[in-house]
Amino acid sequence: MSIETAYSLELKDVISALEANQYYRQGKLHDPRAFSCIGSDDCNAQLTCANLSKLPNEWIVPPYFKQSSDLSPHSSNCDYVKHKATAKNQKGNIDSSLIKTGNFNLILDLDGFSKPKADNLTINGKTNSGSITSYTKKSVSSKNKIQQKNSDIKSLRKLVDVYQSEDYDNSTTKVNINSSSFTLEKLFFNLDSKNKIKHQQHIYFGKATIYERKEEDKFYIIEFSTKHYHISKNKAVTDKPSIMVFKDQLQKHKHLRRFEKYVSTGNTFTCYFFGYPELQKYINFKLHNNYYNLFLRD
Ligand SMILES: [Zn+2]
Repeated sequence: MSIETAYSLELKDVISALEANQYYRQGKLHDPRAFSCIGSDDCNAQLTCANLSKLPNEWIVPPYFKQSSDLSPHSSNCDYVKHKATAKNQKGNIDSSLIKTGNFNLILDLDGFSKPKADNLTINGKTNSGSITSYTKKSVSSKNKIQQKNSDIKSLRKLVDVYQSEDYDNSTTKVNINSSSFTLEKLFFNLDSKNKIKHQQHIYFGKATIYERKEEDKFYIIEFSTKHYHISKNKAVTDKPSIMVFKDQLQKHKHLRRFEKYVSTGNTFTCYFFGYPELQKYINFKLHNNYYNLFLRD
């Protein structure tokens, strides 16, 4: 089966095969075999990015990752191994003619996103990728008959991919969380373009920096760049929203390791948080030890 995302040894970051292709063409990546599997914490299978050097008009299939050789097998815990059978069955459903309105289901645990599972299939498309098992699509062969199907999204990263993808209209594409339904536009809260914050569930995102208060602290502080306010006991509280992250947790989670290169540099990245803000004397987003509700992009 093809694998959508992998850990790049050159960039020290988890990237999609589509991003890898782009970075290769920009000269930021050089070695098609310098990737490792992220299908489980103990899987370190070496992966090769197929079509790494090809231009989009040369693709017969979009770039994807595959196991480099039998000498570097997947761990038996790896989700790519476990989901192989299911993915095979679903491959027949792929259609390249996506329409702009999607309908997605977020697959969440009680405290939000959970440990990433394997991406289930390859989607033909430019920027979207992910553990989307099916999607709203238009089938050309069946003469404009539109098939409505709900798609599953299991990670914050995939949800951000869909939000940023040009293939979906954010004002009409729906995301279902339990029994409620939101458009992508309503679900994502841009901290840089608004300044009043309420106790509501969103994907909060915006420019942020990360710093260490004291060297002996076990945590870093992620601080968003834009101040927000809320009303508490008839008083307006103004604060830059922040998130406390434990240093050892950044190391433990592959998708967060890149945070470290920003520590105390003052350089900004885009930080995404899923959940509710805690609005008291300060404005905080609390991870409650679930680091899958946190994601960042350069
Ligand atoms: Zn693996």
